[in-house]
Amino acid sequence: MNKKKLTILIDMDDTIENLLECWVNELNKAYGTDVKYDEVFVWDMTKVFPSLTKTEIYAPLHNPNFWSKVQPLPGSVEYIKRLIDDGHNIYIVTTSHYTDIKSKIENVLEKHFPFISWKNVIITSNKQLVNGDILIDDGVHNLEGGKYIKILMDAPHNRSYDAEKNGMLRVYNWEEIYNVVKSQFC
Ligand SMILES: [Mg+2]
Repeated sequence: MNKKKLTILIDMDDTIENLLECWVNELNKAYGTDVKYDEVFVWDMTKVFPSLTKTEIYAPLHNPNFWSKVQPLPGSVEYIKRLIDDGHNIYIVTTSHYTDIKSKIENVLEKHFPFISWKNVIITSNKQLVNGDILIDDGVHNLEGGKYIKILMDAPHNRSYDAEKNGMLRVYNWEEIYNVVKSQFC
């Protein structure tokens, strides 16, 4: 019996790599703040760093050197490879500003995930417009209203969100994501 081949949409920041942790560390270092990644309970970074301006907060993302510090989350490289080997179509769906995309793709995707082609990258701030069987994302606003199966990657900023009530499956790591996809949706 043929197994079902899925189109799996995968967010980039804080789903396959540790952007937020690097970003918080960078701001702490630059401005002497003491914010802990585990205590970033809201999406809006201006609320997390109230003493900084929006320009100061977003500056690291516009710095090409910053993106070279961003690292894959544990298991993301291995398990995305496995999903591809299993025959699924993988698309990275990310929302970065156009000025940051080049550094992000070169320093994170091409460096750590060279098996994912640029042809399989979709840049959009409206992920609900993208057709796919599954979206894996840490941003609840990207999952809400989408026609895909919704897998929510756990993060401090989404921890108080009732995933189950909103038709999402909360997961904690890439091994779990792989097993859920394999056992429940194939
Ligand atoms: Mg994200």
